[in-house]
Parts: sequence; C-alpha cells; structure tokens
Amino acid sequence: MLNAAILAEFEALLGVDRVFADDETLALYASDETPRSCLPDAVLFPTSHDDVVAIVKLANQHRLALVARGAGSGNVGGAMPVTGSLVVSFECMSRIVEFDAANRLVVVEPGVVTDHIDAMAATVGLMYAPDPGSGAYCRIGGNLAMNAAGPRCVKYGATRDHVLGLRAVTGDGREIRVGGRTTKYATAYDLTRLLVGSEGTLALITEATLKLVPAPESVATLRVCYASNASACAAVSRIMGKSMPHPVLPSALEFMDRRAIDAIREYGAAEGLPAGTQAVLMVEADGDADDLPRQIAALEQALAGEGLLEIQSGFTAETIATLWVARKSLSFAVKKIAPLKINEDVVVPVARLANLVNAIDALGQRHDVPIVSFGHAGNGNLHVNLMVHADDADEMARARACRDALIEAVLGLGGSLSGEHGIGSEKRHYVGRELDASTLAMMRDVKKLFDPLGLLNPGKKLPDA
Ligand SMILES: Cc1cc2nc3c(=O)[nH]c(=O)nc-3n(C[C@H](O)[C@H](O)[C@H](O)COP(=O)(O)OP(=O)(O)OC[C@H]3O[C@@H](n4cnc5c(N)ncnc54)[C@H](O)[C@@H]3O)c2cc1C
Repeated sequence: MLNAAILAEFEALLGVDRVFADDETLALYASDETPRSCLPDAVLFPTSHDDVVAIVKLANQHRLALVARGAGSGNVGGAMPVTGSLVVSFECMSRIVEFDAANRLVVVEPGVVTDHIDAMAATVGLMYAPDPGSGAYCRIGGNLAMNAAGPRCVKYGATRDHVLGLRAVTGDGREIRVGGRTTKYATAYDLTRLLVGSEGTLALITEATLKLVPAPESVATLRVCYASNASACAAVSRIMGKSMPHPVLPSALEFMDRRAIDAIREYGAAEGLPAGTQAVLMVEADGDADDLPRQIAALEQALAGEGLLEIQSGFTAETIATLWVARKSLSFAVKKIAPLKINEDVVVPVARLANLVNAIDALGQRHDVPIVSFGHAGNGNLHVNLMVHADDADEMARARACRDALIEAVLGLGGSLSGEHGIGSEKRHYVGRELDASTLAMMRDVKKLFDPLGLLNPGKKLPDA
C-alpha cells in the first residue's frame, strides 16, 4: 500500500510535479467512460521510457499495482484503477519521435492523440488508417492496448494491422523491443501482435512504430435507406460476400437502426430520409478518381434489393462531414434515450449480421428493454446499447437478463464478445463462455511470464481463476 515514504520515493524518481495524490487529481483519474469508478492512490506522469522502467521497478519493490492510462475514453473499465493502484498516465509522453515518410512509417510515444498521426501523414499524401470515433482525443497507447478500430477498418484493418514494432516495459521492469521497422519480418515470435490488444496487462507500451499507407485520391459517400433492419443487413451480406461479379471492398460500411437515426436528428444527419426508413447504411468507396465510378456502380448494384428505399449520393463535402460527425457522436447521443447505456460491442461473421440483428430485436421485445444498435456492419461488429435507468431495479434486472441472452446469441452465431472495445473489467466475467479452459490457462501463463507479480492492470481482461 502507498504511504508517504513510498510516495516520496516516486517523487524523487519523477519530480514532485509528476506525482499527484491530491483528492481532485485522484477523482479525475478514477474512471474511464464506464459508469463506475475507483480512486487510485496516486497518479504518475512519466515523460520518458526510462521513467516508466523506474516506475515499474519501484512498484515491484513495493508490490503496487499499475494501471496505464491514455485519455480514459475506453468504455470497458480498462483504465479504471483498482483499489490501492497507481495510475500511469501517458499524457506527457506525446512526442512524435520520428516521421520517416521514405519508409512510410512514424515512431510515436503512447500519449500522441490518434488523429494527430493521421493529420501529419496527410501532409505528404499518406494516411494512418485506423480511425476510431474517439480519434480526436484518444491516445495511440490506448488504441494499441485495445486494438482500436473504426469505419475505415473494413478495408484497411484495425490498429494491430498497422503496427510494425513496439518498445515496452514488462511487469517486472524489463525493456522489450518487439517487431521492427520493416513491412516484412520473420525473425521472432510475433510478440507485437500479442501486445496489441493486451489492455495494459502484459507490458506498458512506451513507443510504437506505425505503418502509414497512401491516402486515397478520392472518396465517394452513399447514404442508403431501408425499410427494415433485415433489408439493410441483407445488403451488407451482398457487398461483403461473393454475390457481386467483381467484388468491391468499401472503405466504410456502417449501420444505424431506427433509434440510432432518431438520436442524431439534431446533428442534421437525418435530413431528407424517405418516409418509412428503419435502417441506414453509410457506405464509402475510395481509390483513384478514374476507378471510383466503377466501384460505386458495383456497390449500388449490391445495395439494391428488397426493402431498399433510396440510395443518396452527390453530397457536398460539408454534408459528408456532418454525416460522419453525427455517426461518431452516436456513442454520446444515445444517452438522451435513457441515462445509462449497457454497451456491448459484439462481433459476428459478417454473413450472420442479419441473424444478430434479428436476435437483438427479439431480445429487446422479450425483455422489454430499448436497444439501440449501430456500428461497423462490414466487419459484423455492432455496438448494441441497452438503454436503462440505474435506479429502476426491475428494468436493470431485465437488462441483465437481456445482455446475458445477447452474449449467448452472439457466441451461438460463431461471434465474439468484443470487436474493438476490449474486455477490461466490465466483460471479463463473460470471457470463460467464449474461451476454452486450456486457452485461458495459456493466457494466464503468458500473463505470468510478462508480469510475474500480477501488478499490471489486475482484474482486467482475464476472468478470475
Ligand atoms: C465517443 C466514443 C467513441 C468511440 N469510438 C471508438 C471506435 O470507433 N473504435 C474503438 O475501437 N473504440 C472506440 N471508443 C473506445 C475508446 O476510445 C478506445 O478504446 C480507445 O482506444 C481508448 O484510448 P484511450 O487513450 O482513451 O485509452 P484509455 O481508455 O485510457 O485506456 C484503454 C486501455 O489501454 C491501456 N493503456 C493505455 N495506454 C497504455 C500504454 N501506453 N501501454 C499499455 N496499456 C495502455 C489502459 O490500461 C486501458 O486498459 C470510443 C469511445 C468513445 C467515448
């Protein structure tokens, strides 16, 4: 447990202006986007890799738990402290270490804001492809820890697919460098991919070498309205399956159900929707200007089918920006339906998206819980929000039963608990339903190897043994 003497040791390591244990700071760092909180004992602000090594070593000496934190925008309690823990905030490690356009890569510290990487790449016609909705404020370290993704990931892949190498500090204070600076690499075990998505439970990431790709010359956006969720999902299957003679991979394929559309009306994003619209797909294609008409024609062919009401195109750049702001605001906008959202982030094989959406409709009715669904349909990844009032015990009980049944349905469809938000503290009790005992045992062994004393983000990702 942290006492004044140990606090002084951390101050001696980092400087008094990098160690905070006042009530106000502790309260600020007590939670992420989950509606739960736990005060840490202190908040530490390292400014270098060496600071992080020193913090971990001292924490080992005193057996203190460490919870890494980026911007705290995660919604599964990943950055939420546990009792007696110290938060390691990476906000002050926000340097772009190197921008190597010749090799299409960038080396960054974990506290860099995600969108800043893309903005910098754009200055030379490149792109950092992963585009989480929180990109304007979340940090790349948090993205790496969660394997964050966004609309573009249907074509370009998630964070994991854009990492060449990492520098990190294990739970016992060892520095490791995994991966490299090349787009081909076959030397070591792929510890890079292991660390991405490890939610701060294996190592603290202190530097990342990220891959950049050419930014597309042109982008075209369609807003497509359907009379039912089932019709929209059938269109998604036609696009992502093999029904097109020359399949096209869209650069975004997003789904919104009726409640989601209503939630963003005030952003001007639902203007001009035809009567009877129950579901909307936002579809984008990107590439060379010459080739875009061919892609759009193929997509329009696949989008056409039973229940299609209208395909809208030809939006101005300003309207397209409005549509995306609205889509990316949904996470907050849904809260006007009810103050608390139980936010699931399930993913199923894309051809089974219609089964998932049907199951969600049926479960919402059976348990009498309003559900708002939207998300990355092209990946089969939906954000399923059960909208509830925390002070209504009956409603909360129905929502819990509904959530349980939803998880069963997803696993029954060959899907997974999380497509991009991760497990954190909020979903770990479900992990044993998805993973078999020997896989879980292997994961625990891996955790022990990286973090022998179990000091890194305890109580996250893995269910209790
Ligand atoms: C409005 C909104 C929209 C969102 N949209 C998306 C979306 O489109 N796609 C998506 O994937 N997510 C989305 N999210 C969730 C969230 O933004 C992501 O999970 C993001 O990656 C979290 O980044 P962060 O910097 O806030 O990390 P935090 O929430 O601070 O931390 C997340 C996890 O990373 C760990 N961590 C942080 N830094 C490090 C480090 N240096 N080393 C090791 N572990 C570390 C923490 O311990 C924690 O487990 C959204 C959230 C909100 C509120």
